[in-house]
Amino acid sequence: MGIEARKDELLFLVSDLAGDVLTQKRVPFDKKVGKDAFLTLLIQGAKEQIDVFKGKEKKFLGIGIGAAGLVNPDDGSVAILSHLSNWGSVPVKKALEEEIGLKVFVHNLAAAAALGESWYGLGRGRKNFLYLSVTDGVGGGIVINGRLYTGASGTAGEFGHITVDDHGPVCTCGNVGCLETFISIPSIIESARKSLSDGVSSAIQEIAGGPDGAITFTALIEAARREDKLAYKLFTDVGRYLGEGVVSLVNLLNPELIVIGGDLVQAGNLILNPVKDVLKRQALEVARKSVEIVFSELGGSASALGSVVPLIEEFVASPLD
Ligand SMILES: [Zn+2]
Repeated sequence: MGIEARKDELLFLVSDLAGDVLTQKRVPFDKKVGKDAFLTLLIQGAKEQIDVFKGKEKKFLGIGIGAAGLVNPDDGSVAILSHLSNWGSVPVKKALEEEIGLKVFVHNLAAAAALGESWYGLGRGRKNFLYLSVTDGVGGGIVINGRLYTGASGTAGEFGHITVDDHGPVCTCGNVGCLETFISIPSIIESARKSLSDGVSSAIQEIAGGPDGAITFTALIEAARREDKLAYKLFTDVGRYLGEGVVSLVNLLNPELIVIGGDLVQAGNLILNPVKDVLKRQALEVARKSVEIVFSELGGSASALGSVVPLIEEFVASPLD
């Protein structure tokens, strides 16, 4: 079973050894529910999936989780859901193992998605690639020699916290000017709102449904595609910041592929073109020429799919256990 734990939704998914999805269910939750209620939802959801297969000739290998936030790799047990900062540490692994009795692996959401890409997505057959995800936050996963690289204390791939502006906005991590503060979807919407309230002329508000309409990411994309100057500039700036981050990664790691996932991919070439421009201008030529940049095709289930990979790997290594 794979579970994707986002800041406002849990996705439960059961797949077979080939990665074919047998069942899946999304359970939205309000972050106001608190940590204990969240853990109850998690346990109930997992039990519900197990019940679907009761009496059938099927056996669960375990549970893999991709969780938003930092994962403590020492005991693999505690995921800190960063967007729910007042929750502190959440003992996801311990709670599930005690209540369900199956082995549990926990990864960061983006690291799990990198595994998903590596086994079932565009990273298949690629030895050295990066996965970058941009939605409410910015995360990443690094695959080196076909294996997920998690670093000395499990935080490798925290691409969103590369500093791109020493005088930039304060980030959730406490630093200022992190990439995430410029390219996450909420930060893009916020900068549109700021420009509009500064009186910059634009069709964004009209596309969003008039003066009272909430500015959505979809409205910004629509405006940019209609060649609205402000919206177009917003995406060009986001692409430029993302491109600068990508240049560092390309120079440092020389990947053959970068897969971009998360809601930002809806902006398509509005983002990809400026990223490629920056790469062309700033990256080492040899490294640049060997990297391909693509958008994920796994949709919203890359992390849930990828979180089952450690279970399958363990089964393949010792099937009789
Ligand atoms: Zn940060």
